[in-house]
Amino acid sequence: MIRIILHSLCLSFLCYHPNLWADNTAPTQIYGTHAAGCIKNARILPPEGEGYQAIRLSRQRNYAHPSLIYFIQTLGKQMARQQNSTLFIGDIGQEGGGAMSGHGSHQIGLDVDILFLQPANSHLLSVAEREKINPISMLTNNQTEIDTKRWRPVHDSMLQLAAENSPVERIFVNPVIKKYLCTQYPQAAWQAKIRPWWGHDGHFHVRLRCPSDSPHCVMATPLPANNGCGTELDWWFSADANKSAQQKYDKSKPKKPRVLPTECSVQ
Ligand SMILES: [Zn+2]
Repeated sequence: MIRIILHSLCLSFLCYHPNLWADNTAPTQIYGTHAAGCIKNARILPPEGEGYQAIRLSRQRNYAHPSLIYFIQTLGKQMARQQNSTLFIGDIGQEGGGAMSGHGSHQIGLDVDILFLQPANSHLLSVAEREKINPISMLTNNQTEIDTKRWRPVHDSMLQLAAENSPVERIFVNPVIKKYLCTQYPQAAWQAKIRPWWGHDGHFHVRLRCPSDSPHCVMATPLPANNGCGTELDWWFSADANKSAQQKYDKSKPKKPRVLPTECSVQ
C-alpha cells in the first residue's frame, strides 16, 4: 500500500531512481507470451548506465525481466567501449506487463525498443531532456531506401552486436533495413536473428528468449530456419504485404482481446 501511495505522489526525478520502489527480493516470474502475458516482480532499468540512456521515463515503461536489464547494460558497454557510442533506450514494459498502447507485444519484460538516433558525442541528457527524444526515421521520404545522410556504420554495428548477444531471440527492423543488411552481410550468422516488420525505421526492437527461471514463459512462434533474406523478404515489398498492413493497422476495426494466463489476473 505504501508503495502505491508513494507512486501516486511521484513527481520528481527520484521516482525514476533505479529500483527505488521495486521489491528486489521477490523472484521475477513471467506468464504467457511476448504478445499475451504478464510479469510479476519486474525490475526497473536504471535510468542510465555505461553506453545507454533511457528516454521518456515518465511513461513508466521501464520494467523488465533481469535478463533484459543485463542485456541492455551489456550492449551499452559494448557500444561505449567498441564504438565510442551511446544508445537511447525506449519502451520496455509496464510494471506488471500486459498490453500497452502502441505495441503488439512488450508484455512480459523481454522486449525493448532501441533508437537508431544517438546522443551527440555520447552527451548525458537530463531526464527532462530525454522526455523530448523521439525516434527519427532512417529511411528516405518515399520509404524505399536507407537515408545515407543518417545511417552510419555505427548502426550496422549496433544491430550486429545486439544480434550476437546469446539471449536475443530475434530483432525486428523495417523491411528496407533488412534488405540493406542482406545486401551488406549475406553470409553473417547474426543475420538470421534480424527479421522484417512494419515500422521499425526509427528504432529496432530486441526480443529475448524465455529465461530458464520462468517456466511459464512461452515462445509463441519459432524463428524460421533461414536467414530471412530470400523469398520471405520479397513478400514484404509486395502488394499483398501492403494489403496486410492496411488490415492490420485499420483502427476502425475492433481488435480481439487476447486471452491471458489466469496468473495475470491475480495480484
Ligand atoms: Zn517494440
